[in-house]
Amino acid sequence: MTKIAIVGGGASGSLCAIELLKNSPDVKVTIFEKNKILASILPTGGGRCNLSNFIVDNVELAKNYPRGEKFLYSVFKRFDVPQTLEYFKKLGIKTHKDASGKVYPASNSSKEVQEKLLGELRKYKNFKCIKKEITSAQELVEFDYIIVAGGSKGAYELALDFGHTITPLKSALCGYITEEKYPSGVSITIGDEPLLFTHKGISGPYVFKLSSLWAYKEYPFTLNVPLFNVCTLKDEIQKNSKKEFGTILGNFIPKSLVKEILEEEIYHKKCAEISNKIINEIKELKFTVLEPDKVGETVKAGGVDLKEINNNFQSKICNRLYFTGEILDVDGLCGGFNLQFAWSSGVLAARDILKRIS
Ligand SMILES: Cc1cc2nc3c(=O)[nH]c(=O)nc-3n(C[C@H](O)[C@H](O)[C@H](O)COP(=O)(O)OP(=O)(O)OC[C@H]3O[C@@H](n4cnc5c(N)ncnc54)[C@H](O)[C@@H]3O)c2cc1C
Repeated sequence: MTKIAIVGGGASGSLCAIELLKNSPDVKVTIFEKNKILASILPTGGGRCNLSNFIVDNVELAKNYPRGEKFLYSVFKRFDVPQTLEYFKKLGIKTHKDASGKVYPASNSSKEVQEKLLGELRKYKNFKCIKKEITSAQELVEFDYIIVAGGSKGAYELALDFGHTITPLKSALCGYITEEKYPSGVSITIGDEPLLFTHKGISGPYVFKLSSLWAYKEYPFTLNVPLFNVCTLKDEIQKNSKKEFGTILGNFIPKSLVKEILEEEIYHKKCAEISNKIINEIKELKFTVLEPDKVGETVKAGGVDLKEINNNFQSKICNRLYFTGEILDVDGLCGGFNLQFAWSSGVLAARDILKRIS
């Protein structure tokens, strides 16, 4: 029997265990999980589990990872989105995609995904899950292979103990704490991405994307957010020259925000009296971004240095050690990309181990 330890029973650790157990009766798999197994997927996709994104061109798919893009070409070549969805189907999890390509379980329930994966694991007598936090390599000496799948909350210490380097860790896919505050709960749309005002600053998909692309930007910095299309507003002003400016602007941005950014006098002016200077003064909201809002952080940029692992997720430092999922220096944008990487890395690491022991 080959004894395999998996540190972390989240998305990638669990799928790695399933792949090992399904394909070999000669492995004994132990997951060490400090919390509850697969609890990490329950809040994903707002409880709906946005488990992937239906992009079949792997180069296009990899573009959605601000960290790890090139490394992922070979990963997705061997375990891509259609293969992932087929894998889930075989585990009894049917999926559907929305208009933007985001993939969810047909039940729209993270709980169902958790239950089905857990149900699969429990089928195997040579599987066990131990509730324990692993902090040192020493605790795992009895195992033939070790997979560290600790996500972004906890196993970095262990990776360091194995002699690996952790690239600087930064919050990504999170809101921003800003100096300027606008009515909390109100949102505007930039392009097709919503930005939400919060009591701490700004959040929502537009900000999440920025926080990922700019994860390594120095704080504080200035962010100018366009409020409306200037040409379209000018057209409306011309068409409604006798109407109150504040009312017309309210057709472009929420009324509570109009009241916040316009002085009373300008609000009540007729459109014909509105100069280009006034429009230029209000066309953008300027924010001083103080820091990321760590409370709402979805993923971490940074992690185990990709230079220190091969494309089978095996450590170049320790022969029988693997890293999968978010603990690696790979992170994706919103839309199912982070879970997709967790699944792909978990399965491919398992396949490499199976090849080595067969
Ligand atoms: C609120 C929220 C919503 C999200 N929604 C989505 C979404 O819809 N789509 C998407 O693609 N991504 C989403 N993500 C990101 C996604 O959940 C993660 O990228 C993904 O779960 C990473 O998988 P993983 O297996 O690497 O880590 P995790 O799933 O986080 O699992 C790691 C596990 O390891 C355990 N652990 C850590 N250290 C130790 C240790 N030393 N010893 C023992 N156990 C340990 C943890 O308790 C955890 O259970 C979301 C994240 C959050 C926080």
